[in-house]
Amino acid sequence: MKLLFVGAGMSGAVAGRQLAEAGHEVHIIDRRDHVGGNCHTERDGDTGVMVHVYGPHIFHTDDEGVWDYVNRFATFMPYKNRVKTTSQGAVYSLPVNLHTINQFYGKTMRPAEARAFLEEQADTSITDPQTFEDQALRFVGPDLYAAFFKGYTEKQWGCSPTDLPASILKRLPVRFNYDDNYFFHRFQGMPEHGYTALVEQMLDHPGITVQLGTDYTPGMADAYDHVFYAGPLDGYFDYKLGRLGYRTLDFEKFTEDGDYQGCAVMNYGDRDVPYTRITEHKHFSPWESHEGSVCYREFSRAAEPDDIPYYPIRMVDEKALLADYVALAEQAQGVTFVGRLGTYRYLDMDVTIREALDVADAFLAAQTEGRAMPAFAVSPL
Ligand SMILES: Cc1cc2nc3c(=O)[nH]c(=O)nc-3n(C[C@H](O)[C@H](O)[C@H](O)COP(=O)(O)OP(=O)(O)OC[C@H]3O[C@@H](n4cnc5c(N)ncnc54)[C@H](O)[C@@H]3O)c2cc1C
Repeated sequence: MKLLFVGAGMSGAVAGRQLAEAGHEVHIIDRRDHVGGNCHTERDGDTGVMVHVYGPHIFHTDDEGVWDYVNRFATFMPYKNRVKTTSQGAVYSLPVNLHTINQFYGKTMRPAEARAFLEEQADTSITDPQTFEDQALRFVGPDLYAAFFKGYTEKQWGCSPTDLPASILKRLPVRFNYDDNYFFHRFQGMPEHGYTALVEQMLDHPGITVQLGTDYTPGMADAYDHVFYAGPLDGYFDYKLGRLGYRTLDFEKFTEDGDYQGCAVMNYGDRDVPYTRITEHKHFSPWESHEGSVCYREFSRAAEPDDIPYYPIRMVDEKALLADYVALAEQAQGVTFVGRLGTYRYLDMDVTIREALDVADAFLAAQTEGRAMPAFAVSPL
């Protein structure tokens, strides 16, 4: 079959690769001038540093199948994500752990002591937390909440934590040991030559053609047997029901000599610092050595129509609109919506890849069984 993929990010590259290997003719378009989607990396011309152009990306997964899959296309270098935060005039380790708590309170508590101490700080009068703020106060009390959660969350989401649901903080966001590895997953690493090289390897197959700088237009579908659409769900329907809300990011790039901040990611928890974090890209490739350094100050705000949509907001209003778009999509013929934009969900890369592998399998099964491929392999609702 002739298949069109809109979007040359992880979703399109993985599903396209799988279906090309199964013998289909795969054509992938992207409106950008590079492959890799938001995972795109490129070397800075002046310093040689590998830059994560759309924000820092660390690969981590518990899914051994996905780990094996990405290792087919790239060498992964060992990398542990360790994040620091500057808050109230001091630097602390994140996620909040025993080191953070001891440093913050000027104590030398062991795990059980710290646990008991935090229980004393917690606001136990909150029995049924409804908001992010309630939940944080109940878990960690007012001091840690103010230093590590409140300001950062306000900047990231552009609203008060009293307007965010408690479900965002599902479990106690604190570790009572000195483990500062940000992720719990068994497998973690960084592709040696960046994510774009990884995606290029995925796309390097005789059954795949790639066309960059090309926006999808509805008429294109006529020349294909099926379309896999990794662009924005509302965009596919020309936003006719309204726009799904996103947060976008602005990156203020600056270069320095030597080592600017000594780590890859430094968060800024204070509300009066306008940016959420500074990323120093060369620390994502600790096996390389560069004299110069490239850093991004990262600012978060509501996305306007011409901005890059980064984080879906998925509050009550957006979910209602999403349900309407899903109903519309389910009536459409010959198109399957995939990936973070097509299903309006925040998806880590490993989940994106798992879903793309599953979408390809579902398509092959539908062909074998003579069924139509549904609009969604995973419900966005
Ligand atoms: C700031 C940030 C940090 C992140 N950090 C991590 C991390 O550390 N670890 C992790 O695992 N994941 C991370 N992620 C998630 C990761 O970016 C996603 O999992 C991944 O990009 C999803 O791939 P995708 O192909 O679904 O979407 P995308 O990467 O968005 O690709 C979609 C592509 O479709 C193209 N497109 C859209 N509409 C059209 C159209 N009409 N016509 C033609 N082309 C179109 C776009 O140009 C884009 O290239 C992060 C995400 C963000 C926003």
